[in-house]
Amino acid sequence: MTNGNIGVTTENIFPVIKKFLYSDHDIFIREIVSNAVDATQKLRTLASKGELKEEAGDLTVNVKIDKEAGTLTVSDRGIGMTEEEIDKYINQIAFSGANDFLDKYKEDANAIIGHFGLGFYSSFMVSKKVEIITKSWQPDTKAVKWSCDGSPAFTIEECDKADRGTDIVMYIDDDCKEFLEDYKIGELLRKYCRFLPIPVKFGMKKDWVDDPDNKDDKGNPKRKEIEVDNIINDTTPLWTKKPADLKDEDYKEFYRKLYPMSDEPLFWIHLNVDYPFNLTGILYFPKVKSQFDLQKNKIQLYCNQVFVTDSVEGIVPEFLTLLHGVIDSPDIPLNVSRSYLQSDSNVKKISSYITKKVSDRLASIFKQDRKQFEEKWDDIKIFIDYGMLSDDSFYDKAKSFALFKDTEGKYYTYEEYQTLIKDNQTDKDGNLIYLYAQNRDDQYTYIDAAQAKGYNVLLMDGQLDPAMLGMLEQKLEKTRFTRVDGDVIDKLIVKSDEKKDELPEEEKKTLTETFKNALPTIEKTEFMVDAQPLGETAAPVIITQSEYMRRMKEMGRLQPGMAFYGEMPTMMNLVLNTDHPLIKKTIKEAKPEIVSQLIDLALLQNGMLRGEALTKFVKRSVELI
Ligand code: ADP
Repeated sequence: MTNGNIGVTTENIFPVIKKFLYSDHDIFIREIVSNAVDATQKLRTLASKGELKEEAGDLTVNVKIDKEAGTLTVSDRGIGMTEEEIDKYINQIAFSGANDFLDKYKEDANAIIGHFGLGFYSSFMVSKKVEIITKSWQPDTKAVKWSCDGSPAFTIEECDKADRGTDIVMYIDDDCKEFLEDYKIGELLRKYCRFLPIPVKFGMKKDWVDDPDNKDDKGNPKRKEIEVDNIINDTTPLWTKKPADLKDEDYKEFYRKLYPMSDEPLFWIHLNVDYPFNLTGILYFPKVKSQFDLQKNKIQLYCNQVFVTDSVEGIVPEFLTLLHGVIDSPDIPLNVSRSYLQSDSNVKKISSYITKKVSDRLASIFKQDRKQFEEKWDDIKIFIDYGMLSDDSFYDKAKSFALFKDTEGKYYTYEEYQTLIKDNQTDKDGNLIYLYAQNRDDQYTYIDAAQAKGYNVLLMDGQLDPAMLGMLEQKLEKTRFTRVDGDVIDKLIVKSDEKKDELPEEEKKTLTETFKNALPTIEKTEFMVDAQPLGETAAPVIITQSEYMRRMKEMGRLQPGMAFYGEMPTMMNLVLNTDHPLIKKTIKEAKPEIVSQLIDLALLQNGMLRGEALTKFVKRSVELI
């Protein structure tokens, strides 16, 4: 037997491992099982080169719990290690500046493990003692057993092991007993090892098969229950296959596997590059039923089929974090801090590659099958809007296929829409005025009036639309968005300076005062009353809210720093149409019940007549009849 000390410069690495890596205990299983898989893949390579003298045989990696002994064991039939190799790969953990580094990254187990190559040592996060029982693939080497109880002292001795390969035996700590539970290990294997390229067995499971010895009346074999190996992984997940060999159903099935509770995806993008970096994966556009379904961290990141993380911020472009799917790349430096990741040039390249792929795919669906694209637009809009808002390079690509939808349900590209409204919706200063509604029912009267003028009205009811129209006003030249109720119809798009016959100042003042005094009080709302000639066919009283005031209020609601605007009373305009016969009558002689009735009707149309005011209105209406 040999005794020795593990070559670390830090006094004692194990308390450090335990303490600092506390939050991420679970990953030890990934490290140990993926080491076993690596060793097995190396063996396969040797076998394929003809260097292995014996049969490779069954290469399944085995994970076993022995509750009585209190051990969790991971066994492989890979290349194994000689005593010299143990000394080189396990005993000599060469690193410097350990303390500084550990201090800096104490929250980030991945960084520590990556930096030191502590993969194997992560087993000490959950074990009081670890044994390596291993026999190298090389002929005439002896099996050895390495053992270490969590101090830098270890022992190494020859042992009996008939078979090639390695057993890692972890004597689970008393305060980590959950790692001796089937459910817990099962869960961790499903999370980290689900797509490893070598079969991983965890106990047995029940299965039903035909029983040829036991037939029913019709001579058909009956079914019987048998025990089979419980292989926890799919060794050739979909993203590793060639897109040309796959059908739509394959992608959908894989999606169901990844997200069993989700609706069918809208569509997907198979990523596959090998230059200038390696990256494969499948991104899905999920169907989002409500904004509550919008969740980040649904994309899973793999490194050679080993699960790494599902928080991909910094690696994929921000807006794509809303998508689902998997990305696998050995070229993303995974074991580093997030801030490092974000500045890494490889990561930047990967990020812009993914952006390009996604926009190319969307552009090609748009081009090849516009109908399908339009059908899906309402569902994918949120992703595209988010992308255009947060990523200029995506905006540049998406502006050719991003769509507007009008209140009639028709779709237009930005360019098509410009052409559509250019002639009729340009104001006297040459600004193109985009009219929009946020709710087809609430703003029905205004939409109707605008359409009667030959204007087109967009429906901008999306969550991100307020931000979108702000951005589009910046990007598109001489463009303004105005909600249909932003002003009386004649002033929505001002086409000339000519003034119509206005009421003499004195009369106008009396009229507006009359209405002002009759207005019911509405909480947090103030009215500016004005009188204008709006034509005989327009309504007698019209309520509008200026685009500017409304946007200020909206921003106040959305941005904490602007809460001040949110607190301000809502400023509305009450416009009296001096061309309307009822207003004309009122100018001559104001009847209080008519004035109130006119006001209430306008309020009613805007959903602003409630409570006592509404009751009064109903009563008065009955009396008037
Ligand atoms: P890394 O895997 O990042 O190199 P580890 O600490 O996990 O770091 O492992 C150190 C080395 O020990 C590995 O590179 C490998 O040479 C050897 N090793 C670990 N586990 C096994 C195993 N199951 N079979 C053979 N060699 C192993």
